[in-house]
Amino acid sequence: MCGIVGYIGPREATEFLVMGLHRLEYRGYDSAGVATITPDGQIALVKAAGRINQLEQLLANNPPNGRVGIGHTRWATHGNPSDANAHPHYGGNNELALVHNGVIENYRPIKQRLESDGYVFRSATDTEVIAHLIDSCLKRYPPVADMAAADYEPLVNAVQAALAQLQGTYGLAVLFRRWPETLIAARLGSPLIIGVGEEEHFIASDASPFAGFTDKIVYLKDNELAVVTASELRVVHRDQGRVNHSVHVLDFEAADVAKGGFAHFMLKEIFEQPEAVENVMRGRLDHDAATSKFGGFNLTPQQLRGLNRIIMTACGTSWHAGLVGEYQIEALARLPVEVEYASELRYSNPPLENRTLVLAITQSGETADTLAALREMQRKGCPVLGICNVVGSTIAQETDGGFYLRAGPEIGVASTKAFTSQCTLLAMLALYFGRLRHMSFSAGKQMIEELQQLPDQIRAALQCNDRVKEVAEKYARCNNFLYLGRQFNFPTALEGALKLKEISYIHAEGYPAAEMKHGPIALVDENTPSVFLMPRGQVYDKVVSNLQEIKARGGPVIAVVCAGDDEAAEMADDVIEVPTVEEYLQPIVTVIPLQLLAYHIAVARGCDVDKPRNLAKSVTVE
Ligand code: GLU
Repeated sequence: MCGIVGYIGPREATEFLVMGLHRLEYRGYDSAGVATITPDGQIALVKAAGRINQLEQLLANNPPNGRVGIGHTRWATHGNPSDANAHPHYGGNNELALVHNGVIENYRPIKQRLESDGYVFRSATDTEVIAHLIDSCLKRYPPVADMAAADYEPLVNAVQAALAQLQGTYGLAVLFRRWPETLIAARLGSPLIIGVGEEEHFIASDASPFAGFTDKIVYLKDNELAVVTASELRVVHRDQGRVNHSVHVLDFEAADVAKGGFAHFMLKEIFEQPEAVENVMRGRLDHDAATSKFGGFNLTPQQLRGLNRIIMTACGTSWHAGLVGEYQIEALARLPVEVEYASELRYSNPPLENRTLVLAITQSGETADTLAALREMQRKGCPVLGICNVVGSTIAQETDGGFYLRAGPEIGVASTKAFTSQCTLLAMLALYFGRLRHMSFSAGKQMIEELQQLPDQIRAALQCNDRVKEVAEKYARCNNFLYLGRQFNFPTALEGALKLKEISYIHAEGYPAAEMKHGPIALVDENTPSVFLMPRGQVYDKVVSNLQEIKARGGPVIAVVCAGDDEAAEMADDVIEVPTVEEYLQPIVTVIPLQLLAYHIAVARGCDVDKPRNLAKSVTVE
């Protein structure tokens, strides 16, 4: 959550900062701000509650110039979204300016101490404590006469001393009036990346602002500080001296972070799903051995064969993908799977056997609860593999191995292509574990063929867009929705309901269709549509009975069915057709109309699809 940017080099910093903030806006949009060191050696700071275009209006009248700057887009944790609470925050008597992502858990005692030392706080944030604390540590070091880069040792010492007092999480960037040639960035638990250019450096929470500027990046690790001038990057450990860093090259195009003609990122990403699913499979299907192959297991086939249980842990949409994976792996590989909310698993103490594998599923690779849960499982001695999208993210680095989704940047806050890529990857894992255990060569071959047809089937499913838009317009004013499915389509029902809640703010519940009778059916009336997921399969007739139960109580029914299902068309009020696929792949196809339904309803209700209220992408706080 929250986006941080920084720049030092020959350009006007504000131009990069504002562009970068736009690319990071999906991470938080309660307020935005920038600070630069002006040519006359002062800190210029402009910030405002609201979206980045509100900040831009202020900047248009009074653009802060300077070639060193930091910027922030906030997802508030401490203090409401106001001008005063917006970042950057000054430290001391406007001696420094700081932006922060994360939560400082011990901010109260530090604040009391600083107040008794005479510091005056201008915001309700935990962040302002860091700014004044760094200033108070700087006072212990005498001013430096010569501002040359070689003289920044006292500065680094002061920042190290301040950070050592903090409990909680931070990604932060600071600029200093007295050291106009230096930026400091640091991280503990919140992501931060340095972009390396020609005589310039960039800082950002993720790599998207760098597209078009540099493809060379350095991932900062926990407890590391980057001390950055235009020409030099030094990485220093918070409690020790200098540490080595390696420069990675990103495969990234500026076009990857643009809307490409679509009205919203979410719609673009929904339509990218055929390619995303192709990418997740590329090079991972082994025709000769009739199985899938992965570079990231880091376990021998013997160890993998010896596993007797998988625990998947995740949050939100990734948790739903985990549930799909549970159905797939249990059905196809006969391996027991449990799916745990990461926020629960991190504090529970489940009995673990030594042949348990943990899979941590996350789009961003930064999800705070998932990271904490996987660390806890590692502490208990379980091998932990990650399934994530963002290359080089914290979870990608901390797991014992794992698999990238290769879905490309997902900017829309409501996850779409990451979900279908996760489900596809989990189907490939089901194939892999199945083939290690009992699945025959011919059954493996058959599965590969089915998987290979999937991108075209998603393309065909996307043809329902116009039909879904009609349905959306018909039901857009309803205030409650039910989403019902069974077996492989139960997680899809949960995911469909979540999409609607996230972006249209309509109350929606997902349930296993037969569970209705045990309570939720009391909600059914003529204003509460039920979305039935009922592609042909082993429970089709059972779902038809559940549909009749709703119809008998006057509830409108929208049915997602296989193309040509006339029987369902007769029973339902509205029908949306998807192509016929094998049952274990159905969630990947039936979720498409649900994503589109949520999208079109949100548009019809005038909601901000890509930046829904109260939400942010990449949930880096607990
Ligand atoms: N805790 C800080 C605040 O509330 C930073 C939040 C963020 O990560 O945007 O201002």
